[in-house]
Amino acid sequence: MSTDLQQLIATNLTTVHERIALAARSASRDAADVKLIAVSKAQPDERIEAALMAGHRIFGENRVQEAVRHWTDRRARWPDLELHLIGPLQTNKVKQAVRLFDVIQTVDRPKLARRLADEFATSGQTRPCYVEVNTGEEPRKAGVMPAEADEFIEWCGNEAGLRIVGLMAIPPLDDEPSLHFALLREIAKRHRLPRLSMGMSADYEIAVELGATDVCVGTAIFGEREIRAP
Ligand SMILES: *Cc1c(COP(=O)(O)O)cnc(C)c1O
Repeated sequence: MSTDLQQLIATNLTTVHERIALAARSASRDAADVKLIAVSKAQPDERIEAALMAGHRIFGENRVQEAVRHWTDRRARWPDLELHLIGPLQTNKVKQAVRLFDVIQTVDRPKLARRLADEFATSGQTRPCYVEVNTGEEPRKAGVMPAEADEFIEWCGNEAGLRIVGLMAIPPLDDEPSLHFALLREIAKRHRLPRLSMGMSADYEIAVELGATDVCVGTAIFGEREIRAP
């Protein structure tokens, strides 16, 4: 691995951590309450290795298949990894996802919630889950609609038996993100959910100011994605 690449990614990680700290301070928050999830989807192996060498251990992926390729062997080498699923989960991939990921951030429909609960029961391995909310009410996007979020969150906890610890949202690409972040925070507050996953490379500082506990940052750490989705 080139030292240049290693240094670049180490520097990027430091910069993002510093900006998180500044944003946290300006909101009178403790930066230690913000988790930086490095989104390694569509990134070459050498960049992932560089982030690991720099000491980073928390990663996010949005496709189960690619995550299996990226992380199955690395799990053995880096036992303190923490992997978050931040992309859509099909029910036929639930078993694989539960085996690989520590946190499932994208619960957004009853069928998936039930399938996850079944898998936790049969495997004896439970995982904390987040409900994904489609704050922009975009027709073809994942996530439960805001109007249905309250009922769905309650149902996931009380009926499906999932351990829902937070919410996640991806605001519409060309929308002012802060309204979406504020909406997500309001819903989480109503349900006393401690985790709030929001903010990407372009807007993670705003997200931290509005209460994010998890920010999912890809390109600001790794550079532009290189591998096109298969
Ligand atoms: C790809 C992705 C990210 C990272 O986006 P960047 O703009 O590269 O930081 C964050 N969250 C989700 C859900 C993603 O799919």
